[in-house]
Amino acid sequence: MKRLTLLLIVILISLNIVGCNTNKTKPIINNDPIDVESPLESVDDNKLNKYDINVELNQTEKLLIGEAKISYINNENLGLDKIYFHIYPNAYKREETSPVPLEDFEVVYRGVFKPGFIDITSISSNNEELLYNIEGTDETILGITPEATLKPGERIEILIAFKITLPPVDDRLGYGDDCYNFGNWYPIAAVYDDSGWNLDPYYAMGDPFYSDISDYKVNIKVPEEFIVAATGVALEEKVLENKKTYSFEEKSIRDFAWVASDKFHVDVDNVDGIKIKNYYLGGSKARNEYAMTVAKNSIKIFNKMYGKYPYKTISIVATQFISGMEYPGIVFINKDYYYNSSDQFYLEVTIAHEVAHQWWYNAVGNDEVDEAWVDESLAAYSEVVYYENTNSKEYGASYMRSEYTEVYNNYKNNIQVGERILQPVYEFNNLNDYAVLVYYKGAMLHDAIREEVGDEIFFKILQTYYDEYKFKNATSQDYIDVVEEVTGKAWDVFFNEWL
Ligand SMILES: [Zn+2]
Repeated sequence: MKRLTLLLIVILISLNIVGCNTNKTKPIINNDPIDVESPLESVDDNKLNKYDINVELNQTEKLLIGEAKISYINNENLGLDKIYFHIYPNAYKREETSPVPLEDFEVVYRGVFKPGFIDITSISSNNEELLYNIEGTDETILGITPEATLKPGERIEILIAFKITLPPVDDRLGYGDDCYNFGNWYPIAAVYDDSGWNLDPYYAMGDPFYSDISDYKVNIKVPEEFIVAATGVALEEKVLENKKTYSFEEKSIRDFAWVASDKFHVDVDNVDGIKIKNYYLGGSKARNEYAMTVAKNSIKIFNKMYGKYPYKTISIVATQFISGMEYPGIVFINKDYYYNSSDQFYLEVTIAHEVAHQWWYNAVGNDEVDEAWVDESLAAYSEVVYYENTNSKEYGASYMRSEYTEVYNNYKNNIQVGERILQPVYEFNNLNDYAVLVYYKGAMLHDAIREEVGDEIFFKILQTYYDEYKFKNATSQDYIDVVEEVTGKAWDVFFNEWL
């Protein structure tokens, strides 16, 4: 997520410095298109979970009803007697467990708390009902017991029927007058890693998600007048009896999100062979074109600096959301940034930031609960990389200084306990500490590495890291290992100090 609501006082000082210069973004020309074979071909499909989801949005009742057929594979070296999924919508059931941070509650809930949740209607495999239970402090963990232990390398097909009651909130999941947001909405397999099952609740801090890449096929039925923006390639739209069914498909991707609205307009363009769709709700032609230009520039720049975006399409979506949120192949952007004249700067940095997450979070994944800095600091630093390439190196340096270094320096004495970048999201004292450490000091860490090794080696580090870990989950140690591998020296003292 792009946290722009924080630290308004400190940030306002710096916005004056960079805010007035942001009209400079123009299409980047004279860059040869990058046209390489999709790295998706390198993924062994047989080792991935496969989701086949069919849902229908009931606009009148504010419900989403459907089923998910999940082909789950045991990639571990031990038998599994239970398989766990996250059912994140349940976090919205009670005020105490809501994933909306207290600081944002009033705005996101529009003054009144109203619940949202998921009802599991049935779970079966091969037409046999399976036993299951719902666990966790916020009831977001679904434990399913297969009929027999799932052996290493074995697959099970699980059919989960569900009904989601949508919360009336401007959040990752929720609806308002303009849009229906579906982020973290369906049952998604929990990650089994070296620490065992990761069964964290849906914390109201950071973007507390962790998932393995999987293949997706999703059919979404909506009232005919609705337009759906989603992860993946839109295969077809069928209209029958005042209802429209969209079919989306994507391989080797970390999650699936979508937004539906009966007010969407769509512009389509492409860059480096990647189709970009910009969904907006009105506003001026100039601002909507500006959003598209920022998206194109971001993709072009990160393709060149990090390695090619591995999917065929990406959607930039104006919606009811407090800032910006990254999902695979789709990013949610606060719709107000498309309207308000003072928000053009936010529109630009938020799009650049969320697009950067396609490299850091989507392609290269990480445990965003225990090690949020791994992707977030790189997305934050990518804003600097973006400005260097759209404006100038000096401009990037001034952005680094005013947006990160100075804000950190002004704030650091407020950090009450443990000035650590590397700690689980639930250990941070509050949103401000989290933002200053994970985003700002995190970006400073990358800038310090760059200072030490120079531009060429620094970007070689990021390219190597992307190349080695795309379609996988990386840890802090994996990143450190790449830095050491590329530079040929030990960095433990540096990282111990910084992290
Ligand atoms: Zn972010």
